[in-house]
Amino acid sequence: ESYLSRLSLTEPHLHSFLHISDSLLRDAQLIDRKIEKGEDVGLLAGVLVGVKDNICTADMPSTGGSRILENYKAPFDATAVRRVKEKDGILIGKTNLDEFGMGSTTEASSFQVTANPWDLSRVPGGSSGGSAAAVSARQCMVSLGSDTGGSVRQPASFCGVVGLKPTYGRVSRFGLMAYASSLDVIGCFGTSVADTGILLHVISGHDRFDATSSNREVPDFSSQFASINLVESKPLKGLKVGLIRETLEDGVDNGVKSAISGAATHLEELGCTVTEVSLPSFSLGLPAYYILASSESSSNLSRYDGVRYGNQVFAEELNALYSDSRAKGFGPEVQMRILMGTYALSAGYYDAYYKRAQKVRTLIRKSFKDALDDNDILISPVAPSAAYKIGEKKNDPLAMYAGDIMTVNVNLAGLPALVLPCGFVEGGPVGLPVGLQLIGSAFDEAKLLKVGHIFE
Ligand code: GLN
Repeated sequence: ESYLSRLSLTEPHLHSFLHISDSLLRDAQLIDRKIEKGEDVGLLAGVLVGVKDNICTADMPSTGGSRILENYKAPFDATAVRRVKEKDGILIGKTNLDEFGMGSTTEASSFQVTANPWDLSRVPGGSSGGSAAAVSARQCMVSLGSDTGGSVRQPASFCGVVGLKPTYGRVSRFGLMAYASSLDVIGCFGTSVADTGILLHVISGHDRFDATSSNREVPDFSSQFASINLVESKPLKGLKVGLIRETLEDGVDNGVKSAISGAATHLEELGCTVTEVSLPSFSLGLPAYYILASSESSSNLSRYDGVRYGNQVFAEELNALYSDSRAKGFGPEVQMRILMGTYALSAGYYDAYYKRAQKVRTLIRKSFKDALDDNDILISPVAPSAAYKIGEKKNDPLAMYAGDIMTVNVNLAGLPALVLPCGFVEGGPVGLPVGLQLIGSAFDEAKLLKVGHIFE
C-alpha cells in the first residue's frame, strides 16, 4: 500500500511505468498469508520488482515500448520473470524504454518520456530508463532491464543506482524481445550492490529454452555479502585494478573524470593497486557495435509484419499490408536502425561492414582478455557526461550514439560489468550522479559484487 501511494505521488512527474499491475495488493497478500501460515517463502518474498517492458509477462501487457505491439499480451512469462515469481517476488509493473531497446535516453519510447528523478528536466538514460528511474525514486525495490550496448549501466549511472550487466549467457534471454541476439542480456537494478546481487542470483542459470544460456554453476551471489568483513582496514588488499586509459581522453566531462579519479583513490585506500591499462581497439567498438547491433536488429525485427506479430494495418495486397503495418508501427529510430542494418548486410556491402565489424569484435575480445589476464578487474566511467536535458540530443543521433562508447565494448566482449554511484557533478537542483563501471572476466560476477559491496 505504501508503494502504491508513493506511485500515485511520483508517477505523474516521472512516467517510469507503462503499466502498473492490477493484482499488486492481491499478490502481496498471498505472500503475507504464506508467512502467517509458517510456510517457506522465497528469497524475494515481499520484494517489489519492476520489469522492463521488452521482457514478457503473462499477466500484463508487453509492448517493447513500440506502437506495433500496443496492447500485446504475451502468453507466457520470460524465464527471468518466472524465476522472480517462483522466489515470491511481486511484479509491480512494466517500465518504460526506448522502442525495442534502441536508444540511450528513453525518449524513443512510442508512448511517453521518462524523467530523471534527480532533475525532472533531464533524461534518465536508456534504454532501460524506466527501470532505473523507478528504483532511483523508490517506486520499486529492484528492477529488471536489458543491456545490449549499455542499457542497464548508462541509466544506472544517470539515475544514481546500482546496475549490473551479467556475462552473456548467465541469464536466459527466453522471453526477452530480441534486439541484437549476440549482445542482449537481461540485467538488474537495485539501490545497493547486495540487493542487485540477490536479484541476479534469482534470475541466473541454465534454461533449456535458451540455447545460449550457460550450463555453468551459479555461485551463491546472495549469501556472499554476509561473509564480507567491512571493518577490516584494507579489505581489497592485493586486488589489481586496471583503469582503462581510452575512457578518460578528450570528450569526457571534467566532473566525470574527477569522480572517477576519486573512485580510483578510494579503491587504493581499500588496498587495491590501480594502474592505467590501454585497450588499443577501444575506439573501434562504437562503429562495430552500431553495425552489428543494427544488422541483427534488422533481422530480428522482421517478425513484426502485422501477420505473425504486431498490429495490422489492413491493405488489399499482402506486401502493402506488411509495409503499411511496419511503417505505422515502428518509430523513426527503429526504422533507421532497420535501414542501416539491411544496408550493412546487403550483398555488395557485407564484406566492407558486417564482416569487418565481426573482425573488430574479435580484436576487442582479445584486448579485454589480455587486460584481464594482468588485472583482476578493469574500471572506467560509464558515459562521458552525467544526465543531459530532455531533447538535447534527440535530433542528433550521432551525438547520442557517441555517448555509448564506454559501454558497448563490454557487450562485444560478452563480459559482466557492475555500475555503482561514485560521485556527483554540478547540475539540477541537488547535483547529478556519476557512476563507476567495474568490468570483470566472463562469469566472474561474484568478484564484481564483492568489490562493489566493499566500495559502497
Ligand atoms: N544505446 C544503445 C543502442 O541504442 C544501447 C541500447 C541497449 O543496450 N539496449 O543501441
